[in-house]
Amino acid sequence: MPCRGSIPLVAININMRYFFVLLFALMLGSCDSAPKKGADGYRFGEKQYERNEVQVKIVTYKSQADYNKVLNRLKLPKTTAAFSTLSPPYDICTIHMIDPSIKYEPEFVGHEFLHCVYGQWHTDNKSIS
Ligand SMILES: [Zn+2]
Repeated sequence: MPCRGSIPLVAININMRYFFVLLFALMLGSCDSAPKKGADGYRFGEKQYERNEVQVKIVTYKSQADYNKVLNRLKLPKTTAAFSTLSPPYDICTIHMIDPSIKYEPEFVGHEFLHCVYGQWHTDNKSIS
């Protein structure tokens, strides 16, 4: 015959099991300390340098076809959404992009702007940007 005190003990044991499962799940979630990917699909890596002032030039293309011709000439992948060019001493940066009234992709323009400020901050591709 069960006594009145046994029911709460069973309830506590079930709750403790859920507590440890929840605690374990939280511990797994907190182990992921890698920076999150941005809307451009990249994680911010290591700065090549850091500039507080940089002259940014913008080259816009009036069509995807015009932009693709430049990608082909520079031997860049056709999937390149925007690119930037830098040359030492890295105080002038030129961002190439399709006119935003034709193709609006601010996440890639922002990506390129970070190249102007930090140089090559990601090493997971071989682009010139
Ligand atoms: Zn890049």
